[in-house]
Amino acid sequence: MLVAEVINMNGMIFNIQKFSLHDGPGIRTVVFLKGCPLRCQWCANPESQSPEAQEKGRLESVEEIVRVCLQDREFYEESGGGVTLSGGEPLMQAEFARALLEALGEQGVHRAIETTGFTNESDFLSTLPLVELLLFDVKHWDSARHKQGTGTDNGLILRNLRAAVEAGKDVLPRIPVIPGFNDGLEDADGFARLLSGLGLERAQLLPFHQFGENKYAEMGLAYAYANVPALHPEDLEEYRARFVRGGIDAFF
Ligand code: SF4
Repeated sequence: MLVAEVINMNGMIFNIQKFSLHDGPGIRTVVFLKGCPLRCQWCANPESQSPEAQEKGRLESVEEIVRVCLQDREFYEESGGGVTLSGGEPLMQAEFARALLEALGEQGVHRAIETTGFTNESDFLSTLPLVELLLFDVKHWDSARHKQGTGTDNGLILRNLRAAVEAGKDVLPRIPVIPGFNDGLEDADGFARLLSGLGLERAQLLPFHQFGENKYAEMGLAYAYANVPALHPEDLEEYRARFVRGGIDAFF
């Protein structure tokens, strides 16, 4: 049994999405935690960036979130699914994220976390034993370009990625493919070199979409990617082929 301190802990979340098929294996519930240390210019969830409640955030306890997640236990069991923590960056609220993962683990639920990897090493390492799968966003292979697009270089992110691989975790790198930022063929080669150098063998490509555009308008924020056309898998066949040539089984 978990102590009351753990199940009563509150975290700031902005959504719980049921029946997700895109954030790990099987049918999943995705819990979106608020707060992100990056500022990606193409961010589709600008409401996730601030750790404050704003219009979309609410405080929820571990106990309540676990209760909502367990409503779908049957679907997890039938589909090989589970729960994914996403954000923002879930490890901005590391203590709460760990409490939630611990409580889900106690119920035998498969746990994944979608992370930017931009979090201090001790929070990152102490979370690893509490997840079965890491969905690890890699936004640029080149540190200077990474900084231009997200506001920070990729040094800490790549150290954490390496640490997860060395710890033997199941890591799925996920690359948002963004027009004019990392969608060149030389970028595909750069990513493949980076990932294969870390001993990784696969990556998921997430083509740029415009789902976030209205949110910027609603929040009164300028959007750097307004009117930039979405990308589709058929636009990225040669891009994907470069990964495969570089030893990375890339898929959409
Ligand atoms: S890491 Fe994700 S949530 Fe954070 S700014 Fe970038 S796209 Fe948005």
